[in-house]
Amino acid sequence: MKKTVLIIGGGIGGLVCGAILSKEGYRVRVLERHSVAGGGLHTFKRNGIEFETGMHLISGFQENGVLNKLFSYIGVADQLQIKPADEEGFDHFHLAAEGVTYKMARGRNNFIKTVSTYFPEEKDNIDRYIQRVYEICDNISIYNLRAPSADIYSNMEVMETSVSELIASFTSNSKLQAVLAWNNAMYGGRKDKTPAYVGALITQFYIEGASRFVGGSQQLADGLVQVIEQNGGEVLTQTAAHFIDIQNQHIQKVISKGGREFTADYYISAIHPSSMFKITDVSHFKKAYYHRVDTIENSNSAFVTFITFKPNSFPYLNYAGFYTYDYEDVWNCAELLPDDRPRGCMYLTPPVSANDVFAQKMIINTIMKFDIVKKWEHTTVGKRGYDYYAFKTQHENKVLDMMEEIYPNFRSKIDTVFSASPLTIRDYYNVKEGAIYGTMNDCNNMPLSHLPVRTKIDNLLLTGQNINLHGILGVPLTAILTCGELIGLEKLLGIINYFSRTKVTY
Ligand SMILES: Cc1cc2nc3c(=O)[nH]c(=O)nc-3n(C[C@H](O)[C@H](O)[C@H](O)COP(=O)(O)OP(=O)(O)OC[C@H]3O[C@@H](n4cnc5c(N)ncnc54)[C@H](O)[C@@H]3O)c2cc1C
Repeated sequence: MKKTVLIIGGGIGGLVCGAILSKEGYRVRVLERHSVAGGGLHTFKRNGIEFETGMHLISGFQENGVLNKLFSYIGVADQLQIKPADEEGFDHFHLAAEGVTYKMARGRNNFIKTVSTYFPEEKDNIDRYIQRVYEICDNISIYNLRAPSADIYSNMEVMETSVSELIASFTSNSKLQAVLAWNNAMYGGRKDKTPAYVGALITQFYIEGASRFVGGSQQLADGLVQVIEQNGGEVLTQTAAHFIDIQNQHIQKVISKGGREFTADYYISAIHPSSMFKITDVSHFKKAYYHRVDTIENSNSAFVTFITFKPNSFPYLNYAGFYTYDYEDVWNCAELLPDDRPRGCMYLTPPVSANDVFAQKMIINTIMKFDIVKKWEHTTVGKRGYDYYAFKTQHENKVLDMMEEIYPNFRSKIDTVFSASPLTIRDYYNVKEGAIYGTMNDCNNMPLSHLPVRTKIDNLLLTGQNINLHGILGVPLTAILTCGELIGLEKLLGIINYFSRTKVTY
């Protein structure tokens, strides 16, 4: 008889676990509260145009890329439509104060060469820094799908040093330091908090294979659901887990909002731990554990502006743009300027075909603290009150003013515009404080911000962005660690490596 697994949450974390376990002989059931599975992979339509919610910048799908291997083994890599970002500049970092744009080139040597053209006297330091970044990445076993001398948290030195310290150990040039941290606004890097290994992983990951989904990230969610179903599992949408019944350190059943009862041999929580605690009797967890997990600091949230352009009015950009007023702003992207303007943004034009000439749409992310919208925290979608909508319109205008600084006459190209605030993100993902990357990794307090996938409840495992690392990289890697607890990590990595190498699906 097949062992059964019930997964709470159908985001990329729950779905990758579901796909792996269903392939490896488990009978899988995923509960997803929304009408479509995907979580951050989910796309939605406004006025007939499809927008991604939370997976715009991706990587790892290039030949030999870690996600290419994982998703080849799962059996969905071939059906994904992926477009590599510009080789000469996958990211453009605009520095308003000096009117300079720094281009980040794809590929290790290209990257060093390009950044060195802006700082010729620092060439050796840039070289040594990137060498260190690659060394750090080589030493993270799971990132290399290597059998498990240790997990992602094996190297204390790069966990307890911050990304800013790492960069500063190679150069004292503060402008170069900021340029090497240009992507903070994308992954929420914080000056004295984000561990060096997180900065290194994300930097190397994108240098090697920055790319986009053509036609949106939902394709990955759909592919994963298909794999689960083909292997006899099911993904039940509009089925929110409402109560997790634990007795004697063992989950007995999960009850859905509609009152349906689900039992399984194993349970995986793929939602924010605080959301999980809200639907169970927390006295079954050790007080210290519950308190530690429930009070972990969360990453920042975001204010996201979605734009559709008039036909053929704005060029398709095969790069992501990062904009800040000053160098220091890369470290403070969640802080507003004294007049409440954002300090910077990240924008991109998601591709709708492999050869777009003009952009159909743009997404502009500005990192925002939840505090800014806290006064409306007890409101629900559509009923947040006039002052909230006035705030949103005002902030949206500030974002558009910023875009005018980068692209004069920007507004004249726009057909429609709307925005999502940290409250939208909180309520859509069911995630505390609308934290876009889940819980915060803090190098000053790794034991507090790092969660093991195993819990003291003997048939409960954890997965998702809150456990190790967020995003298209962190969540699938954590899913491997979670599934490894059932299958055996060494064995699972062996299978993934074997089937991805031979390109055989089974
Ligand atoms: C605005 C924004 C932009 C982002 N941009 C990027 C990017 O460009 N690149 C990148 O790599 N990452 C990006 N991220 C981060 C990325 O989206 C997340 O790290 C990732 O999607 C998290 O996956 P997950 O499976 O852990 O959680 P989620 O995707 O949040 O999935 C959890 C799922 O559980 C469901 N759920 C919650 N509670 C219950 C319940 N009680 N019962 C049943 N189901 C439940 C939710 O509906 C959701 O579908 C972005 C995030 C945001 C918000």
